[in-house]
Amino acid sequence: MQSKHKLFNFHGGLHLPGHKEISTGQAIGDVFIPSRLVLPLQQHIGESSEATVKEGDPVLKGQIIAKANGYVSVPLHAPTSGTVSQIIEQPVPHPSGLSATCIVIKPDGKDEWIDLDSSADYRQMDPSALRNRIRDAGIVGLGGAGFPSFIKLNPGAKTAIDELIINAAECEPYITCDDMLMRERAEDVINGIRIMKHALQARRCLIGIEDNKPEAHAALKDACSKLGIDDIEIISIPTLYPAGGEKQLIKVLTGKESPSHGLPLDVGVVCQNVATAAAIYQAVTYNKPLISRIVTLTGEGIKQPGNHEVLIGTPVDEWITYCGGYHDSIKRLVMGGPMMGFNLGTDKIPIIKTSNCVLAFGEGEADAQEQQAMPCIRCGACMDVCPAQLLPQQLYWQAYARDFDKIQDYNLFDCIECGCCSYVCPSQIPLVQYYRFAKTEIWALERDKKKSDRARLRHEFRLERLEKEKKEREERMRKKKAALKTGKDEKTKDSKKDAIEAALERVREKQKKSQTQTKNIDNLSAEQQKKIDDIDARRNQEQKDSTS
Ligand code: SF4
Ligand code: SF4
Repeated sequence: MQSKHKLFNFHGGLHLPGHKEISTGQAIGDVFIPSRLVLPLQQHIGESSEATVKEGDPVLKGQIIAKANGYVSVPLHAPTSGTVSQIIEQPVPHPSGLSATCIVIKPDGKDEWIDLDSSADYRQMDPSALRNRIRDAGIVGLGGAGFPSFIKLNPGAKTAIDELIINAAECEPYITCDDMLMRERAEDVINGIRIMKHALQARRCLIGIEDNKPEAHAALKDACSKLGIDDIEIISIPTLYPAGGEKQLIKVLTGKESPSHGLPLDVGVVCQNVATAAAIYQAVTYNKPLISRIVTLTGEGIKQPGNHEVLIGTPVDEWITYCGGYHDSIKRLVMGGPMMGFNLGTDKIPIIKTSNCVLAFGEGEADAQEQQAMPCIRCGACMDVCPAQLLPQQLYWQAYARDFDKIQDYNLFDCIECGCCSYVCPSQIPLVQYYRFAKTEIWALERDKKKSDRARLRHEFRLERLEKEKKEREERMRKKKAALKTGKDEKTKDSKKDAIEAALERVREKQKKSQTQTKNIDNLSAEQQKKIDDIDARRNQEQKDSTS
């Protein structure tokens, strides 16, 4: 459906030579199985997966070899059958050039699948069951960011999604994997989009595709007609780099601005890539995990450029050899495109879930990178092209001065590393490298701070525990002493009581004894008795007289 959709502009941007034709001359190449597959545990944003296999374990194609480790994490699956030969540190595709833990699989050549559950109809599944299936299939954003897709499809019960935006722009020069996917597998893409729309209960769905991809546009349109779909708008947008940036595409299609430090969700939008949509369709409908992706191999340094379906973990050197190898003129190898990609120091690294392109620059193509940087002349050209409306020269100064507090005041983290500023800089300053350096340093400082905060908390908890134990000990001692004292008092009381009792007994004994002793008035004679009686009678008479 040809759209009469109102479009908006984003600030800055560049018209760049596309070089897309280099890799679109032939159909997507088949998967080949390399001699070994190297699977980094960290292939997505978030916590890296945790290995569930050990060296020597046999594995089947599609089997989980590492489980998700936390909410922002997904599992990792074996791309073919074979044996886990090693779990070791290996160089991985990252601008830092560092190594990371990888599971290495030696394929057995049988390419034998695990038992896949029977296929499912997404219309019979509720959104949470869909998200679980997408998470279990290890799907992450295949446009380059690598954020776990199921999280993006979980906006929360209270957030209504106005637009599901599908990024089909593929704006960076040389890269054509999405273009070829749409041309050849448009129905997978459309079916995946319907699943996401259902999961999000999105009000409407817009596909943004640059106007330099007429074949892909037509293929999507045909797929919609064939599948009888009329609730997805396919919108042609001007070819202007970086129209495929998430925030830029949302702006172009809806006029909405995602807030600084915010997410598209904050303006009721979720944005997903076409390759992610196709992977979601395979996962939900056939329960197939993400074990391969389409990757562009291009540049003047490559003998047979094109697009191939590549198993995740395939070493770049083996793949390039399989595709015919390098031209002698090769000057530089890049993972990604010429604007946002990063130089590779070696081709002995694997393709991972977020690898969309390997670019081998030939003679002449790489010259700009090799120019000597000169001082900033404050021309402001970088500011004019910045799609994030930042002040690139200020960011540069702060990064240069290592003022990592101030650089954040200039919204460093809104920089999408599109490279427009570096591209136009007449002083050839590699601006994006400065921004990446600053971001890495800030993350490292934050990590260190978190670590030291954790250590300080641990220390404080320990002191608190020791103090508590000391108090408890003291309380126990106090109680013990009190108990001892009470016992002693009781004893003293008892002994006093005993002494009194003994004295009383002695008195009683004495009395008893005295009662039994002979008195001097006993055994009187009659005469003695008479005298006594007389005395008593006289005493009585005297008493009476005295009282009368
Ligand atoms: S384009 Fe380069 S020289 Fe001009 S202001 Fe920006 S950093 Fe400085
Ligand atoms: S790399 Fe960052 S600062 Fe430079 S133009 Fe792009 S968004 Fe702006």
